[in-house]
Parts: sequence; structure tokens; C-alpha cells
Amino acid sequence: MSRIVIVSNRLPITIKKTAENELIYYPSAGGLATGLNSLDESLDKIWIGWPGQEITDEWERESIRQDLSNRGLAPVFLTRQDIILYYEGFSNKTLWPHFHYFTQYTDYNDATWESYQNVNQKFADVINPLIKPDDLVWVHDYQLILLPAMIRAVHPNVSIGFFLHIPFPSYEIFRILPWREALLDGVLGADLIGFHTFDYMRHFLSAAYRVSGYEHNFGKLNVGNRVVNVDVFPMGIDYEKYAFPDKDENSADDTSFIEKLALHQRILLSIDRLDYTKGIPQRIKAYSQFLENHPEYHRKVCMVMIVVPSRDQVDQYQELKHQVDELCGIVNSTYGGFDWTPMRYLYRSVNFRELTTLYRLSEVAMITPIRDGMNLVAKEYVASKEENKKGVLVLSEMAGAANELLEAILINPMDVNDMEKAIVTALDMSEEEQALRLDKMQKKLKKYDVKHWANTFMNEQIRLTNARKESQTNVLNEEEETSLIAAYRQAQNRLIVLDYDGTLMNFHVDPQAVVPDEMLIDILTRIKKYGR
Ligand code: UDP
Repeated sequence: MSRIVIVSNRLPITIKKTAENELIYYPSAGGLATGLNSLDESLDKIWIGWPGQEITDEWERESIRQDLSNRGLAPVFLTRQDIILYYEGFSNKTLWPHFHYFTQYTDYNDATWESYQNVNQKFADVINPLIKPDDLVWVHDYQLILLPAMIRAVHPNVSIGFFLHIPFPSYEIFRILPWREALLDGVLGADLIGFHTFDYMRHFLSAAYRVSGYEHNFGKLNVGNRVVNVDVFPMGIDYEKYAFPDKDENSADDTSFIEKLALHQRILLSIDRLDYTKGIPQRIKAYSQFLENHPEYHRKVCMVMIVVPSRDQVDQYQELKHQVDELCGIVNSTYGGFDWTPMRYLYRSVNFRELTTLYRLSEVAMITPIRDGMNLVAKEYVASKEENKKGVLVLSEMAGAANELLEAILINPMDVNDMEKAIVTALDMSEEEQALRLDKMQKKLKKYDVKHWANTFMNEQIRLTNARKESQTNVLNEEEETSLIAAYRQAQNRLIVLDYDGTLMNFHVDPQAVVPDEMLIDILTRIKKYGR
């Protein structure tokens, strides 16, 4: 029976140390964990990744290994230096901006690249001894692009899947990276490579051909004597979780302020991590322009902007924070009054109850990233309208989710005029049309949820593994071929044993009817001549 080995940069758990040096484990159930939990219960699973805390003491590491192994988890311990160079460095200062087309932010740094290779190898060193021949390994995301080949080097026949959660850029962007070939070689160690959208897949195939010369046939590449399959698997959400959130009246989380706000004002919701890919300044500018040109909406609308702190050690993120602070200040000071605050801006995360209340009560969601692999917030917003069927999604055409959520108002996030128009269209949309659009999107999201995503990927991996086993051909390498021919030529007596039915000739209902054809006779004649 196969076992699933999940590998991601972070484990779905965080370890914190108390002041008394006691270790506390906090589970973090993101979309990936939910999807994987839904996989066939009969399959064993283990999850390998960084536990989110630097642990240097070997005795403490061993105790963590024990604790985690009871939960089906295995830690990869990283040093502070690894995190600075591999995670904050090459992953988030090179690959993240570059793959999101922010090439002006790409850091070209040999030291971070070296650390990226070393840490991928650290992951391989933890994983390789754990792998059994029938395991299905599934590696996740841009922090571990080199890992598939590092596993393949030790386990030539194990099944390896890789999923990229961020965009794969066009060849013209990818080719700029000095490490382009090594990155491709790394990921091509997998048997199945998955992307959120057809475009990312197309870009990847083009890069594999133009950088490394691998031609593809319907997404299949021949790499050495292996076939690598490339395909599209758009990630879904845990639909029920957002459609029917637990409305526990006794919950300590107070959402009454949001409810009061929604009674008096029409809420436009903006929610993202602080990231230059999310288009936050452009969105504020569009809202500001809308207020400028549409005074009839003053005192009637309010943009609630949640910016979740993220990567705040990186320069560009600090600059972005200042820019967002300033733009929000300008909007409120220009248009606001004693009786009205046009923007409510929070720089913090919200809890699940606040999040789902905001989703449910916002009339419009402005999700306008400049580039986004998928964008799950857009899907969660639509799901949360399951009961009231009221709300309009304004969505960037640059988000992966736009390929599925075609009934949203799709905008170009760099076009402030387009976004201003979209705000007016959204606020003026009839309830019938809102319901119609939501209903169509909800049907898709319900069907293609995160469980469907995880199951489809795993089933494809299983199918490919079975197909490979069935059609296993031992291809001779050059060295084997040369020595075989030399031995054949030197031999005094030669005995050649050939299987006939089903090998040299196809099977037939009547075995007597299978007569060697011309091609076979020609091959046999040539073998005979070869020995002379
Ligand atoms: N989210 C969260 N806390 C918050 C705001 C958002 O946990 O305060 C979640 C949100 O529900 C979504 C995820 O963070 O599931 C963001 O995913 P998305 O794909 O939209 O963007 P990413 O941050 O991965 O680029």
C-alpha cells in the first residue's frame, strides 16, 4: 500500500518556546492541510518541513522529532543563517519577485543561491532515508524547486510530484535568471509537475524547451529515460468552511462593530498580505479617484482595508507599508469628516470570525493583485455568499483565480480608470444579477474544492506510477550497448533467446496465424550479419 510523503517549506505546525524554555506546538490548518486531510484515509501520510523555530540543541531536536513523529510529521531543522539566506534571501528576494514579474526587485546573489542549494539538500537528507519504494512523494512550492532531482538521485524509481503555488513566468522573464538551468533540472526530477493555470504550464514548457532543449508532446517530456508529465490543477478552497462558518454566539471574538458599520455604510473590502504583488497602492488610488468623481456616494460607502503584516524585514515591504499608510491618510484627510471615515485601515491579521463576517457583510470585494498565483481570498469571498447571495467580486485578471471566476468583474489592476468604473458597476449592480453571477461561481467552487484538488493530483500520480510499471522498458545506456555488441562479436557460439508472441509480434486469437512480417525477418537477418 502506498504512503504519501508531503514536503513543504513549513510544517502545518509551529513550535514556540515559552520563557521557561517549554515547547508548545500550534497547529496551523491552511488550505493545503485541509486538502491533504481529505485524501483517502487508508493511505498513510507523513509531512516533512521546517517547524518554524531555530532549535540548536541536539537533545531538544530529538525530543521534537519524537513529539512530531506521533503526529505524522518530521522536522527539517534550519539555522537562523539558513532562514536569512535560503528563505528570506533566495526564495523571497529572488524567486518570489522574479516569478511575479517584479524583475526590478530580483536579488542576484551567489551566497543566497548557495544556501538555497544547501537547504534543499538538507531537506533531501532528511527525506531520503525515510522513503520506501512504493511511496508517493509530493513536494510543494518555490522554496524547494531543486528537491525533486535530489530525491531522484537516491531513489531513481520512486514517484515524485511537484506543485508550484506561485506563477511560472514567461520564458523571456525566466531566462534572465543565472540559475535557470539548475532550477529546471531540479524540478524535472519529478514525474508530475502541477500548476494552477494553463498559462503557467505553457510558460514552463516553453522554458524547458528553450533553456534545456526538452520538447514536449501534450505536456509529456522525455528526460533521460523518464517521462515527466506537466499538467494544470487549479487549487480550490474548503468550500463548506466559508459557506457555513460556525456562528457560535458565545464566541469571545466580537464582530458587532463590523455589523454596526455594515448597517450604515456599504462596505468595500480589501484584504491581503502586505506584498507589492497585491496592488494595494493602485487600489487605494482607484478608490480615491472614485470618491473624487462620485460625491453622491460620500458617507454611503466605506473601504475596509485589512493588510496582514508579512516579510516586514525586507526593504521593499517596509517602503510599501509607508506608501500604504500615506495613501490611506490622504484619502481620509481629503474626503472624510467628523461624520464619516471613508477608509478603515488595519495593519494586522483578523481572526476567522472577523474574516468571515467581513466577507459576508461586504457588498463589494476589491481583489486586484498585479500578479497572483491563484488568490484564495477571492474564492473564499464568493463561498461566504452561499446564504445571502449578495455581493460583487471585482477581480484582477492577473490572478490565477480569474481563469475560473469568470463572472466576477474582471479588471486590469494597473488601470485605475478601469477599477474606478468597476467600483461604480459593482455598487449599482441589481440583486438579481449579483445572485446570478454568485450562483455560477459558487457551483464551480463547490465542485472543484481543495479536496478535489488534492485527490486529483494524487490520483494522477498513482495513475502515472501504474502506467510506468506496466510499460517499464529497460533502455540500454551507451556503455551497456557498447559492451553488449563487443561481447556478441567476440563470442564463438551465440545463443539468442527471443520471446515471440506479444514481443516480436503482436498477440493474435489464433497463435498459428502469427507469421513473422518483413520487418522482423529483416531485423533477425541483420542480427545474424552483425556477428560476422
Ligand atoms: N487570511 C488569514 N488571516 C487574515 C487574512 C487572511 O489567515 O487575517 C487567509 C485567507 O483566508 C486566505 C489566505 O490567508 O486563505 C491568503 O491566501 P491568498 O491565496 O489569497 O494569498 P497569499 O497570502 O497566499 O499570497
